[in-house]
Amino acid sequence: MYDVIIIGAGPAGLSTASWCDELGLDTLVLEQAEQIGGQLRRVYNPIEDYLGLKTRNGEELLELFAKDVDAADFDLWTRATIASVDLKTKRISLQSGENLQSISLVIATGVSPRELGVPGEKEFIGKGMIESGARDRQLFAGKDVCVVGGGDAAVENALLLAEVCPTVTLVHRGKKLRARRELAERLQPNNCVTVFTESVLTRIIGDEEVAAVEILRKEGLKPFQLAVRGVLIRIGVEPNTELFREQIETDEKGFIAVNSRQETNVPMVFAIGDVSNPLAPTISGATGAGATAAKVIAVRLNARIAS
Ligand code: NDP
Repeated sequence: MYDVIIIGAGPAGLSTASWCDELGLDTLVLEQAEQIGGQLRRVYNPIEDYLGLKTRNGEELLELFAKDVDAADFDLWTRATIASVDLKTKRISLQSGENLQSISLVIATGVSPRELGVPGEKEFIGKGMIESGARDRQLFAGKDVCVVGGGDAAVENALLLAEVCPTVTLVHRGKKLRARRELAERLQPNNCVTVFTESVLTRIIGDEEVAAVEILRKEGLKPFQLAVRGVLIRIGVEPNTELFREQIETDEKGFIAVNSRQETNVPMVFAIGDVSNPLAPTISGATGAGATAAKVIAVRLNARIAS
């Protein structure tokens, strides 16, 4: 019986675990991946907005987190795939056969990139699909590319690729970009970026590698093809809540609903980090929420012992 089981070992989960350890709680972290870090492993550009700290990328920040994790005294199981969770009883079964029990649960499962769901999107992974402008742009230098999306991530990646690619076509389904103004304004003087609004990418085409995309513009009668060698899709994220979906209250987009103490509607079940924070998904927000959850759990457990 653990005091706390934390599901997910990204910044949110690790911060909670470290605080729980500090507060003397018997803690287990379950991570389905081989390594800790969560989304930090996919941040290839500099981290500049974590107060007092600047790193070249997510990996470098993770190395700093890992030092604290090594020094702390909580259980951490990686490659721990959960088969089922009962939030009410706090019982967890792993695919490997173990059954676990805890007094409280902390959901820190984060988010995954949303898929566009068009033909070619999966087939061309590693053959022209760009995972990150920051990481992959030298691979695509000198090639025409297409970016899908209208938020900060799509615009930021389009700008990065525009530094090395002759043309970047940004395809956005809406009338206006959703990206914040200072990012969107940097697109305008950029001669190599073309923005197609009210447009959708319907197919990625090629033999061995990406050779073109099919685009449907609202005013156009028929889709047309555009020759490109690379495609990057950044159309937001989806919360990782499949394991809990029927058991917990979420908002209309599936993000877990929490109060200011990170409590969900299920007693002694907490949610922290991006899975419960669609408004400001930041690393500092995730680590801060972890501290809140740990402190609230400690207070609740002490109150139980006292009564
Ligand atoms: P957002 O949710 O902000 O934007 C997603 C975009 O994708 C929207 O323009 C949306 O269109 C579009 N979209 C969604 N679904 C589809 C679909 N099925 N087909 C086509 N288009 C679709 O996500 P981001 O990934 O851009 O950003 C996520 C978070 O990360 C945000 O909070 C953002 O601020 C932050 N971020 C911040 C950065 C920075 O500050 N430098 C950099 C990158 C991300 P529509 O507008 O029509 O809904």
